[in-house]
Amino acid sequence: MSSKDHIAQDILRRIYTVLPDTGNMIQLHAPFMNGNEKEYVAKTIDDNWVSSAGAFITDFEKALAKYCGVKHAVAVTNGTVALHIALVACGIKPGEEVIVPSLTFVATANAVSHANAICHFVDCETKTLGVDPDKLRRHLSDICTVKDGKTINKKTGRAIAAIMPVHIFGVPADIDRICDVANEFKLQVIQDCAESLGSTFHGQSFFGLGRCACTSFNGNKIITAGGGGALLTDDDDLASLFKHLTTTAKRPHPYLFHHDMVGYNYRMPNLNAALVMAQLEQLPDFLVRKKKLAMAYQNAFADFQYGEFLTYDDRRQPNYWLNALRVDTSSQNDLEDMLKFLNNNNVQARPIWTPMHQLPMYKDFYRGDLSVTEKTVMQIINLPSSAFLEPVQGGI
Ligand SMILES: *Cc1c(COP(=O)(O)O)cnc(C)c1O
Repeated sequence: MSSKDHIAQDILRRIYTVLPDTGNMIQLHAPFMNGNEKEYVAKTIDDNWVSSAGAFITDFEKALAKYCGVKHAVAVTNGTVALHIALVACGIKPGEEVIVPSLTFVATANAVSHANAICHFVDCETKTLGVDPDKLRRHLSDICTVKDGKTINKKTGRAIAAIMPVHIFGVPADIDRICDVANEFKLQVIQDCAESLGSTFHGQSFFGLGRCACTSFNGNKIITAGGGGALLTDDDDLASLFKHLTTTAKRPHPYLFHHDMVGYNYRMPNLNAALVMAQLEQLPDFLVRKKKLAMAYQNAFADFQYGEFLTYDDRRQPNYWLNALRVDTSSQNDLEDMLKFLNNNNVQARPIWTPMHQLPMYKDFYRGDLSVTEKTVMQIINLPSSAFLEPVQGGI
């Protein structure tokens, strides 16, 4: 038996001590509808308010802003359009560069393209998988110059306008230090918090940092609207612009159609807001459940010899959206063989995303050194993480 088969069997045995094999596929991450979902959704139908106006949308926005500790939340149809609107509203211009980690879900980079801006990829850090602030500072010091108050990439001649840090798998990145570097280089910070609703850093919400934060309520996220997203900010003017742009830029009027900008039809429907409202009520319970599952995995992998179950220093309180195992492998093929074995044995394990700079549409984009990203993508295996999974206590 080759060593990769041996490792795959060892991983499976440890997972089964946490989540016993029942003969059914254990999904990576599925929604958990355990509260008022049916009641609230039925109410939108009974009241005949299912579309882009209705009380659940505004109630949800208020509840979400409060939960995240920011002044304003604007609900939209998905996380990708939240990022798109954030870029447009922050005034990122066509042809300007936006710094994006290469290690992210493709939506972060796509939103930059949708805004006609240009991705500039940077590396991650090994512990949190978020943007490495020290490496970012060295990289920007090497390649940037300041001209007429703008930060210019000397290599491409383009202005660099913003950075979009991502909190991977719900693990807070070094967001305070990333913001410091962004300030030094006059970059706006637009946070991609699609995976990190409920996470805190130093015991506090970090959604208020930078210009704004965007989140997602897709079916695979910690809470779901079916599909949905939101923009969050403490800035009153920016929040008004988010609302205006996402509702066709129509000036309020009882019957006249007057639109004063090229707007977007991105408002979250009341039907989806009803569902996600019921989900938000359960988020505190989901966080407890998910932490319990993560601790059981941590226990089961405590003496794992071929890598490590990812854990985080106590400044970070992740939402444990997706649990991740780092396996000491140095080939994509070995990783894929292990994933195949786990999936064939009822464990829906997944790799991390193909990094952006290896995708055909982004392969020729400007980038810094991405050696940590390239190594990391061959090592990460995500383990089943749904909030309804009940770990067997005790581990091995
Ligand atoms: C899910 C996700 C998004 C996009 O959200 P959608 O609602 O699916 O459009 C953006 N960024 C990251 C990091 C994500 O995980």
